[in-house]
Amino acid sequence: MEKKPQTGKPAATHTEVAVEVLPRCDFCDSQAAYDGKTQMGPWANMCEAHFQAHGIGLGLGKGQKLVLNKKQMNEKAATTRQTEHSQRRLLNDLFRSSLGLMGSGRVLITNGVDSLPEDTKAKILLAVRDFDDFNEDNDPHAEHDFGSIKIDGQAIFWKIDYYDADYRYHGEVNRVLTIMLPHEY
Ligand SMILES: [Zn+2]
Repeated sequence: MEKKPQTGKPAATHTEVAVEVLPRCDFCDSQAAYDGKTQMGPWANMCEAHFQAHGIGLGLGKGQKLVLNKKQMNEKAATTRQTEHSQRRLLNDLFRSSLGLMGSGRVLITNGVDSLPEDTKAKILLAVRDFDDFNEDNDPHAEHDFGSIKIDGQAIFWKIDYYDADYRYHGEVNRVLTIMLPHEY
């Protein structure tokens, strides 16, 4: 039970220390929650139960509670967000590239777009379906939910919004792909 080198810096109160990974308890094999001096003398990593049984308390020269590094927690949260973005991107691509056939939702064409000539409208639908020009500016979250195109000299925007089952509130059930003129955004 010798003292293990600490990987984090002590907090101002000296009752907590940030670590990248929680070590094992030196008495059992469960996850340690404390690094502290034992009643027997040597320092040890201790789980809650063994800290209660063998620890002498918290503070400088006594012991510290082990807390997972915030940076690492934030990185984990960022990874989760990235996974959400990529799942949403996949569903958006399926929905748009099938013009609403794959996935649950609707494709809407605004009055402005609907008033364009039939052949222009057909070209617009195909261009929205085949759109692949995503970049940091038009797709900052990499969700493939917005794009702009130009057909027969006319700028067109498309975007995907997310709704609940009744299309009343923001949700994750239905998608609405709206194809519009810029001023209708
Ligand atoms: Zn233990």
